[in-house]
Amino acid sequence: MSELHDAFDREHLWHPYTSTIDPLPTYMVDSAEGCLIRLIDGTTLIDGMSSWWCVIHGYNHPRINKAATDQLNKMSHVMFGGLTHQPAITLGKMLLEMAPPSMHNIFYADSGSVATEVAMKMAVQASVARSGSHKKTNFVTIRSGYHGDTWNAMSVCDPVTGMHGAFGSALPIRYFAEAPSVAFDGEWREDAISSLENIIREHHDELAALILEPIVQGAGGMRFYHPQYLREARKLCDRYGLYLIFDEIATGFWRTGRRFAWEHAGVEPDIMLIGKGLTAGYMTMSAVLTTREVADTISRGEAGVMMHGPTFMGNPLACAVAIESLRLLDEQDMASRVAHIESMLNRLLAPAREFDNVAEVRVLGSIGVVEMKNPVNLGEFQRQCVERGIWVRPFGKNVYVMPPYVITDEQLTRLCTEMLSILPTLQ
Ligand code: PMP
Repeated sequence: MSELHDAFDREHLWHPYTSTIDPLPTYMVDSAEGCLIRLIDGTTLIDGMSSWWCVIHGYNHPRINKAATDQLNKMSHVMFGGLTHQPAITLGKMLLEMAPPSMHNIFYADSGSVATEVAMKMAVQASVARSGSHKKTNFVTIRSGYHGDTWNAMSVCDPVTGMHGAFGSALPIRYFAEAPSVAFDGEWREDAISSLENIIREHHDELAALILEPIVQGAGGMRFYHPQYLREARKLCDRYGLYLIFDEIATGFWRTGRRFAWEHAGVEPDIMLIGKGLTAGYMTMSAVLTTREVADTISRGEAGVMMHGPTFMGNPLACAVAIESLRLLDEQDMASRVAHIESMLNRLLAPAREFDNVAEVRVLGSIGVVEMKNPVNLGEFQRQCVERGIWVRPFGKNVYVMPPYVITDEQLTRLCTEMLSILPTLQ
C-alpha cells in the first residue's frame, strides 16, 4: 500500500456510500489551496468537484480563514435557545436581501439533509394548522430528485436512483410525478406538467407540499429542466392548497448562472432550502427560509412553535464564515464570472459528443455534465484522474465537473481536457 492509501482508514473508517469488504481506494490529502488539492506525496489535483459543490471560493481562502479565526477568538459556539449573536443577525439580513422577496423567517440548520427535514416539518405543521386537519401531511415530488440522506429526505429522493431499494417499506410513501421531460432550453409542451397535475388533482387533500430542486436536479441525475415547469407547479400548488418547497442546496449561490435557480423562472417558493456553498465548504450549515404566512401559521397552530432546535443551530463560527463568503460573492460580478465558466465548459466538453460511449453533453452555469451510455467504474476512473492530476468523482453514468468559481482558464482547460482523455478508455 503506497503512502497515498492508509491501512487504518481502509480497515476502520467508513467513507460515503462505501463497502467495508471492498472499499474504494481513498487518497490521502495533505492540504488544499485555491483550486488545487495536494496529496501527501506532493501530487496536486485540479479540483473539479468543489468538494461536493460547496467550496465555491476555493480552499484555504485568506479572507474566509481570517473571518473564522476572528470569530474563533470571540466564541466558536453558543446555544441559540434564548441567546443570539451578531453573526446570526448579520447573516440573516444578508440572506433576506438576496432571497425571494416573500421570504421573511429563517431557520438555521446543520446540513442539507437536516434542512430538508426542517422544511418538510414546517410544511406539515403549517398545513395542519391551515387546514385544521391531520390529513394534509404527505408530499409529492418529481422523479430523479435528491434531497439528502436522512429519513424523510430519503423518502423524497428518486425511488430508483435513491435509497428506496435498500430501505423499502421502512420509508414513508410519497407521490412521485414523472421527472420534468422538457430540457432547460427545449420547447415547452403543455402536457409536460400532466403527470404532476394528475397526482395533485387526485390527492391534494392528503398533500402538504410539493418539494423539488428548481431547474437542476443534482445527485438524482444531473438533469436541467425548463423554467416553465416551475411556473406551472406554482399554479398547481396555489390552486390545490399545497406549499411549494424549493431545495436550492445544490443550485444556490450562482451555481446555475443566477444567484438562485428560482430566478430563471421568476417563481417564488413558500419554503426555500440553502446549504453547501453557504459556508463556502468551511463547515456544515444550512438554512430554511420561509414566508411570514408559513411561519405565523405554524405559530398559531396546535404546537404554537416550530418543532425543531438542533444543538449547533446558528453556530457563530459558521455564520461568520458564511457572511465573508457572501461578501466575496457580492464584490464580484458573479453573473459574468459564471457565464465565462459556462462558455468555456461548452467549448471544452463539446468534443465528447463525438465519442461512441457518450450519450449526452450538457452545460448550465458552472455545471458541465457528460452522460455516458454505461455506468462508470468509479475506482478505475478516479485512479486515472489522480494519474492525470485532476479530481472528478462521477456517479452512475454521469461524469461531471462543478469547479470552484476561482478556477483559472488554464486549470479549467486542463481539468476538462484530461477528463475527456479518460472517457474513451471507459466502456
Ligand atoms: N439537497 C440537495 C439538492 C443536495 O444536492 C444535497 C447534497 N448533495 C442535499 C440536499 C443534502 O445535503 P447534505 O449532504 O449537506 O446533507
